[in-house]
Amino acid sequence: MKPDTKIDRILKDAASGRPITKSEATLLLGISENSLESSLLRATATAVNRQRFSNSGLLLGQIGVDMAPCDGDCAFCFFARSHTSIQANILSSDEIVVRCERFARGGAQGVFLMTMHRFGFEWFRDLCAELRRRVPPQLEILSNVGDISSAQLRELRDAGVTGAYHVCRIREGIDSRMTPAERRATIERILESGLSWYNMCEPLGPEHTHEELADQIWLGVDLQCTQHGVMQRFPVPGSPLYHYGQVSLSRLGQVVAVVTLATIGKENVKSIAVNVSNLVGLFSGANAFFPEAGEPDDQATQTETVKSNEGFTTALWRQGNEITTADCRAMMMAAGFSNLMDTDGVPNKPLQAKAYRHN
Ligand code: SF4
Repeated sequence: MKPDTKIDRILKDAASGRPITKSEATLLLGISENSLESSLLRATATAVNRQRFSNSGLLLGQIGVDMAPCDGDCAFCFFARSHTSIQANILSSDEIVVRCERFARGGAQGVFLMTMHRFGFEWFRDLCAELRRRVPPQLEILSNVGDISSAQLRELRDAGVTGAYHVCRIREGIDSRMTPAERRATIERILESGLSWYNMCEPLGPEHTHEELADQIWLGVDLQCTQHGVMQRFPVPGSPLYHYGQVSLSRLGQVVAVVTLATIGKENVKSIAVNVSNLVGLFSGANAFFPEAGEPDDQATQTETVKSNEGFTTALWRQGNEITTADCRAMMMAAGFSNLMDTDGVPNKPLQAKAYRHN
């Protein structure tokens, strides 16, 4: 068995430090996910990124703090107003603080606070400011909210937020009620405001074409993202895209590998994320996970109560148990990673099975 000569040449060039072009990315996205070439693609991306990030991984927690039927109405989403049965719910700041402390003990470097497309801005800004006073200082506060203005982004920054997740999704404007122009404008405002921009190729499904994926990935190649990555879509029963099903982990890994090779040499890209957290992703170039819960109880923390039926995380889409920081560290250790790192890509603690203690 011999790999295709052209693909072999592209991968060898990438291993030597040349980022792939957009047309090469389209070609690599089009190879069969179970082919020899796809395995070589994922292996090349693994080697490139283990060296690039000093064999270190990043954990960023996620907390859905505000959920309600959402006007964004995305055709894949649990919260879309047209097909959701969800009841409006806001998480208390005390509960968020408990969850943040658990994320910090689990080695997370930051936590994304997620809302719907429309949300109460003053409430959210004041929540961020309160958390900045109450949660461990090393835990960065990151936002994942709807399209907002430059002035609002500056207010979040002044409240202690250091970065913002924002995506011009695959098929934005077709599978959502937002336009690509609106989404891109917010991303440009995030960068202008001095916040770090967290980006992804999402929500990846089996129906997306190679050209669509390359186009969506390239916004994060052209603009200065701090994190790139890939998130798969989980089929939500009752949603218009449910019948498409979901991609395999090898396909998810293939797209992660393309993102990895497309961002070679980009000093601004400090990590490559994959969601759902999984081992195949760690062998495809990813080195960042979004744990859905912090450190599980031990004897020292049994007095704290997490009400797991409030708020939300991506576990809601999977209809499964939340993946904890302990689970993520275990996967990273099994994949041979040595350290955890900060959001700038600097290793700052050895990977270990037990929780971290902070003074
Ligand atoms: S993906 Fe976001 S904007 Fe779209 S419906 Fe869900 S919560 Fe709303």
